[in-house]
Amino acid sequence: MDYFLTEEQQMIVDVTRQIADEKIIPKRAELDEKEEFPTDILKAMAQADLFGIFIPQEYGGYGGGCLEVVLALEQLGRGCVAVATSYAASALGAYPILLAGSEEMKQHYLPKVASSEYRSAFALTEANAGSDAGGIQTTAILDGDEWIINGTKQWITNAGEADIYTVVAITDRTKGPRGASLFVVEATDRGFSYGPKEKKMGIRASSTRELIFKDCRIPKNRLVGKVGIGFITVMKTLDLSRPGIAALGLGLAQAALDEAVVYAKQRVQFGKPIISFQAIAHMLADMATELEAARALVYAVAKHINHHKEGISKISSMCKVFATDMAMKVTTDAVQVLAGYGYMRDYPVEKMMRDAKILQIYEGTNQIQRNVIGQELNKEYNRN
Ligand SMILES: Cc1cc2nc3c(=O)[nH]c(=O)nc-3n(C[C@H](O)[C@H](O)[C@H](O)COP(=O)(O)OP(=O)(O)OC[C@H]3O[C@@H](n4cnc5c(N)ncnc54)[C@H](O)[C@@H]3O)c2cc1C
Repeated sequence: MDYFLTEEQQMIVDVTRQIADEKIIPKRAELDEKEEFPTDILKAMAQADLFGIFIPQEYGGYGGGCLEVVLALEQLGRGCVAVATSYAASALGAYPILLAGSEEMKQHYLPKVASSEYRSAFALTEANAGSDAGGIQTTAILDGDEWIINGTKQWITNAGEADIYTVVAITDRTKGPRGASLFVVEATDRGFSYGPKEKKMGIRASSTRELIFKDCRIPKNRLVGKVGIGFITVMKTLDLSRPGIAALGLGLAQAALDEAVVYAKQRVQFGKPIISFQAIAHMLADMATELEAARALVYAVAKHINHHKEGISKISSMCKVFATDMAMKVTTDAVQVLAGYGYMRDYPVEKMMRDAKILQIYEGTNQIQRNVIGQELNKEYNRN
């Protein structure tokens, strides 16, 4: 379907499609098998200036918005969700600086993120605080001209591979929702280390590790914005980034659908290609229809966010939940179409099904997205 993209948006699609086809797809099975971080592919993406898409031009970026990021992530997700997650997490780590950082902080970090000199990561989750982010235990205490950070973050994407980490820590427990603040921790800071690499079901080429802070001292000016705005900035960050996760679902589902259709046309049983059986053709028809419906929603939400930055929580959650549930279903159905062959690692659909699952979990589970949508509906109908 033609979404009437501008010339510049089409260029982003073309560049990322080429990277997916030429750099990512030929390597994805090997990277998954070896659980190897895709350093060379990320370098190729940096050479194509992809890390600055969402960064304003005054900070060395391309100056694109949510739709531009969505278009890039859709193509990269079609290639491999693990690679695309490593790319997306760098944006996630930089959004808080963009949204709440001082001018000095933006000038210092954003050009380096845009050029990919600095890879970034975002650290909220802890062992006892996943969906319930308010339960985090990591603390930051001001001591003269330095903050001292103590605590452990869990399951942080790009951990050990990033140069900067935006870390949420409690600065005043008595202040509840206003008790957390955000900090930039650099990989070279003393008192900062990592746990071992997690062994995961899917997105195995991405790095997921703990961040360990033991009396980690950072300069006072690494506070992002003001004391007490940590959780608010996190919510705004996730509102902006969730359509990107939805876009990974679009790309992944497209890849699975492509595999399933090609296979169904070639595989002969009972003397006919299996696509001629209505059971298979209807399954493919539903996969294609649900994918297109999700794409229309994700693009519409992203376009809305390009023009309106406030009041986007509901639609941001809607597109994340709809597109990622769709991706889980479409990839599972693709395995069903390929059946026994689909279950084997010789074909890419088993990896696609494994990779789809994380999209329903990270950046807020799909249950939490439904909570957000429900809460927003409740507020809207109180107003009317
Ligand atoms: C591979 C991977 C990469 C990740 N990357 C990052 C990262 O870069 N940075 C980061 O900060 N975090 C990251 N995370 C953490 C991720 O965001 C959390 O796993 C997620 O928010 C859910 O938290 P949890 O796993 O602790 O589940 P829990 O919060 O323990 O939830 C368990 C179950 O209960 C449900 N549930 C919980 N509360 C409610 C409720 N109120 N209503 C309805 N249902 C509820 C959940 O939906 C889920 O089904 C990553 C996780 C993984 C697995």
